[in-house]
Formats: sequence, structure tokens, C-alpha cells
Amino acid sequence: MASDAEEDRQQEEEKPFAVERAKTGRAKCKKCKCPIEKDQIRIGKFVTNFFSEGKLMPAWHHVTCLFDVFAKQRATTKKIDDPAEDVKGWDQLSDDDRKVILDKLVEFEKTCNYPKLILRKRLIFSKSR
Ligand SMILES: [Zn+2]
Repeated sequence: MASDAEEDRQQEEEKPFAVERAKTGRAKCKKCKCPIEKDQIRIGKFVTNFFSEGKLMPAWHHVTCLFDVFAKQRATTKKIDDPAEDVKGWDQLSDDDRKVILDKLVEFEKTCNYPKLILRKRLIFSKSR
């Protein structure tokens, strides 16, 4: 059985994305350059900090804007697959906040060639029959 400390360490493993309710209204969305208002959901992709080499910091986006960015990326670029796995702070979000992002993911998968989750759903579906 894993101790609490071990579980903590596993959660600290680097995830490619982060999500939270904005603590301040100072961060600007990397896509539209507009400020992300305090208490709005913001979602970030970790990028190398220009000022501090080797350190990663989240490039914050509005939820909609991040999915716009995803839509323009090549299919091979890292996107959110399983939010619980890929997004830091996911477990701290309220169910409503999670739903906002999950709805976006589902919508995104429909419009883009991003068949991974759809495929998984099909597998689940075929199992349930
Ligand atoms: Zn934006």
C-alpha cells in the first residue's frame, strides 16, 4: 500500500497542463492577449520560462482560447487527452468547472481529427452492449 507521501510525490509529477480559477486578474491570455479576469477558469500549457532556464511555467489561456490553439496545432502536438492525467489542479476544480472543460473537449474532438477519446468511448460503448 502506498503511503501518503508517495501519493503526494506522484501527484507532483510533471503534467503538461494546469488549470485553476485565476487568483488575480493580472495574467493575460497568450492567445487573445486579453486579461483573464479574477475567478475565471484559466488553463495553461507549461512552457519553458524565458527568464529562468529549465523552469517551467504555465502559459495561461481562456478555456475557449486554448481549444482554439489546439485546433490549429498539428495532430502530433501534445493536447489534453485525459484531464485527470494531464492537467495539474484538475482535482481541485469544482464539478461545474470540470464540466465546462469536458464539454469543450468533447466538442473539440467532434470538430477535429482527434479520434483518441472517441475511440475509447466506442470501446466502452461496445462493451456495454
Ligand atoms: Zn483568450
